[in-house]
Parts: sequence; structure tokens; C-alpha cells
Amino acid sequence: MKKSTFVTKEQLDHIVKEFPTPFHLYDERGIRENAKALKEAFSWNPGYKEYFAVKATPNPFLINILKEYGCGCDCSSYTELMLSDAIGVKGGDIMFSSNDTPAEDYILADKLGAIINLDDITHIDFLEKTIGHIPETISCRFNPGGLFKISNDIMDNPGDSKYGMTKAQITEAFRILKEKGARQFGIHAFLASNTVTNEYYPMLAKVLFEEAVRLKKETGAHIKFINLSGGIGIPYRPDQDPNDIRVIGDGVRRVYEEVLVPAGMDDVAIYTELGRYMMGPYGCLVTTAIHEKHTYKEYIGVDACAVHLMRPAMYGAYHHITVAGKEEEPCTCKYDVSGSLCENNDKFAIDRMLPKIEKGDYLIIHDTGAHGFSMGYNYNGKLRSAEVLLKEDGSTQLIRRAETPADYFATFDCFEIGKKLLQNHL
Ligand SMILES: *Cc1c(COP(=O)(O)O)cnc(C)c1O
Repeated sequence: MKKSTFVTKEQLDHIVKEFPTPFHLYDERGIRENAKALKEAFSWNPGYKEYFAVKATPNPFLINILKEYGCGCDCSSYTELMLSDAIGVKGGDIMFSSNDTPAEDYILADKLGAIINLDDITHIDFLEKTIGHIPETISCRFNPGGLFKISNDIMDNPGDSKYGMTKAQITEAFRILKEKGARQFGIHAFLASNTVTNEYYPMLAKVLFEEAVRLKKETGAHIKFINLSGGIGIPYRPDQDPNDIRVIGDGVRRVYEEVLVPAGMDDVAIYTELGRYMMGPYGCLVTTAIHEKHTYKEYIGVDACAVHLMRPAMYGAYHHITVAGKEEEPCTCKYDVSGSLCENNDKFAIDRMLPKIEKGDYLIIHDTGAHGFSMGYNYNGKLRSAEVLLKEDGSTQLIRRAETPADYFATFDCFEIGKKLLQNHL
């Protein structure tokens, strides 16, 4: 499928006057349409709820849009809990799916009334000692081990992942939790990431639904919800076909009717914790070509670098690039598109065929709406960029300002040198 952008060169000419590049730009219309389609795809299940994975895009303005469609928050850390609380997502609208969890995180999760999803059987004791009781509603993360396959294709390797409990452990965990007063149970698993196939969720659902039937039978636990977690992916590459959420929702419904309904479990709610699927395609990184370099290869140097989008450097991930205004020009030039870090992996694209780029051109790096800004860092003293929302009416709204040197040096503010660093630049 041809990849298109949600912003034009003409719009960008206007936007950069107010917000200099680089910045992450988000598409309000796309976020809304997608959230609505997801809700509809699972509307057959009365208890259905999406808990947006906050770590993907921890911006309160964006999460507030999702909240309008009934989404809660899936948090994994103290600050993510704080963020959810601040935007009024509380109690059972927060799923706390953490691992290797610090005590203070459990304390805050409990204070906010979040649903706690335990990653390990040893966390039962740890939680009870930390918060002084076991919540009435509690969830456990399951890891079936082995390889997770869809028709002979290996999707991922749960047996090699640090998350979740074995079959024996989750059974024991349910027994212990029940004894300690838990009344409503949830089961959670995340077995493959960024899947671009309509089959992943229905296959995962089958594994979890059968597990739920077994756990109910063996422990007598009342299973309130099954959390399919994240993992629905997006087509980063032009040759990939996007998932069809209606087909996915319907596939899960069929497994529900096949496995849960005959077992008398037709009151189980389906939860999801999607991150990438909710936001990924609806964000882009806008950067300006500021240099070109001709050595053993052809380089285009841009004003963004890996601190603004780490995925290419970290995973060799593909992110499509459009040169704004040159959408219809032939891709006749082979470039490495690089940032300014003192790291040779700081490249947004390697040997990428693109239209001829002039200095001053805007490059639109696609699909940065999830796990983009949020994975940012400050290496080389680089500053995090702004985040800007492109609203449905075509206007823009600043939803996070760019960092300044004062932000970078803020953690020296309790020292003499901190005052000097800040004074010299303000
Ligand atoms: C990262 C994560 C998600 C979201 O994953 P996506 O691939 O962005 O959908 C959901 N749940 C948990 C527990 C996670 O760690």
C-alpha cells in the first residue's frame, strides 16, 4: 500500500513558522477515527475496554482524546500512574501491568484503586506485605512458554521472555489469591509484538480462553476479564497490508463463542492494552534537511537525531520517509538520512531511495506516534523536541514544549555549578 502523510507541504510551511523543526506532529482526526473503529469492532462484548498503553505515547492531551471513546490507561510505572490520575483516569479504569515492580509503585496503584496485574507468583507476598492486603479484583500474567506460532510462522518466543507465570504457577497463584480474599480474577498475556496479521488476537484469545476455562474448573475462581494486552501492529513498510480491526474483533468473538460460552463463561469481559495500534500511524517526526555530505556514500543530515526517534538505531526498524512537496517525484537518489549524534547508528534510513533532497526540505518520518517521542533520551546533550497536535479543523496546538538547556541542567539545580549553568544561558 502506498504510504501517505496526514500533513501537506503547504501546511508544514505554515506550522514551522510557529514551531521550529524537529517536532512530533499528531493527527487528531486519525486518532479519533481509529479509536471509534476499535470500539465498534469489540462492541459485541458488553464489558469490552481498551486500556491505552501509556508508555507508547505518554501525553495527557492525546490520552484525553482516547478517554472520550471510553479508553482507560495501562500503566507500568509510578509516573504513568501519576499521569493517569492527573487526567482523571482512576480506579478500575487503570490497569497496572508492571514487572519487577518497586514497592512504591504498588502503593500508588493501590491508592488509586487500579487493577493490579501480577507478573509473578512471588509478587503475591510482596504485594500483601507492601499494601497490607490483597485486592478483591486481581489479575495474573500468563506465559505459556515455548514458541508462539501462526500456521508455522514463528511470531515470537514466549519461552525466552521475562514476563508472566507458568501454567503451574498461575494455577497456584489463583488458589493462593482466592484464599487471601480475591473475588474477581483476570488473565493477561502478551505473546507477540507488532503483529501485522488479523490472526494474532484470535489465536492469543484461544490460548487465554482455554486457560481461563481450565483455571475456573481447577480453582473455582470467578474470571471477570481476559486481557489480550498489546501487540496488534501497524504497517511500517509500504509493502505491508494493515490489520483490519473488524476482522480481528470478529475473530475474537468467534473464539469466545466456541470456548467461553459453552463453558458457561459468557459474562467475561475482554480487555485490550493497545499502544502502537492506537497512536503509531497518527504521529510523524518532522525534520529539516540541514546538510548534505558526499563521501563513500551520499548523506542527508537532518536536524532530528536518534534521541527523537530511537527505533531505527535500536532495532534497525524501518520508518517510511516522505520529502514534503516531492510526493510525486521519482525516487532516484540513494541516501543515508542521518542525525548528529556521535554514534554511527544514528541514521533514520540507510540506502533509502528518495527524491533528490535540497537543503531546507522537510522530511516527514512516518509512524512515530507510538514508541517514538516516549523512547527519547538526552545523549550528546540533545534536547527533546516539542509535540504538536494537528486538530481536525486544520489548526495546531502545542501539546508539549521543546526542552531547553535549563531542562537539561535542571538536576544540577541543587549545586553551585547548576546556578552558573542556568545563568549563563538564560
Ligand atoms: C508495551 C505494552 C503494551 C503495548 O504494546 P503495543 O505493542 O504498543 O501495543 C501493552 N501491555 C503491556 C504490558 C506492555 O508492556
